[in-house]
Amino acid sequence: MHSATPSADPATDAALRLAGVRETIDRISALSARASNAVTLVAVSKTHGAEAIAPLIAAGQRVFGENRVQEAQDKWPALKETTPDIALHLVGQLQSNKAADAVALFDVIHALDRPSLLVALARAMHKAGRQVPCFVQVNIGAEAQKGGCPIAQVPQLVAQACSADIPVIGLMCVPPADIEPAPYFALLAKMARDEGLEGLSMGMSGDYETAIMLGATHVRVGTALFGAR
Ligand SMILES: *Cc1c(COP(=O)(O)O)cnc(C)c1O
Repeated sequence: MHSATPSADPATDAALRLAGVRETIDRISALSARASNAVTLVAVSKTHGAEAIAPLIAAGQRVFGENRVQEAQDKWPALKETTPDIALHLVGQLQSNKAADAVALFDVIHALDRPSLLVALARAMHKAGRQVPCFVQVNIGAEAQKGGCPIAQVPQLVAQACSADIPVIGLMCVPPADIEPAPYFALLAKMARDEGLEGLSMGMSGDYETAIMLGATHVRVGTALFGAR
């Protein structure tokens, strides 16, 4: 059942991969005594075109993630026209000068990580009259090359966001590559508890099972759904 035999039909393959990921989410949720609807599957469709996305929409997937504002602007308006109940999540780094575009297009932003972006987002949301829920992205492995708020500055950034009327729904992280992610997920979960935040955006194709066991509410899965980029 799990060994989805590659078929000649890409749409069938996509539906099988989606069913497999959903089944894994249900199974791990049950193991961790969590309701499976407590975990939102964000299908990360970056670099994939409408022809790869459409089969997942047809199979019932409604939550998608993109990491570039421009790419999302090119792809999604047409897809949203045919399926209006799609929720679009921004999972990549966001430049402050793209804040207004991001607020206009996305339903959730996972990349609030610095005061300058906070100011730009608050202004854009106020102007658009649209409060977009945000995750504060944490640089959980303290990696120089990665985005995300330094751990020590998270409480201040969350407080600042709240006073700027930005709805902060949780914390997000991408743990360092090639090491066991569980300690990082556990740390993010503890930080969220300390902040009184319920949302935890953590877990990608390689580690979403571990992330769910440690409390993820949003898993961001690309490769396991769409194949390699
Ligand atoms: C690309 C990306 C993902 C999905 O990664 P996969 O390994 O393909 O599942 C998740 N989160 C972020 C921030 C990404 O950029």
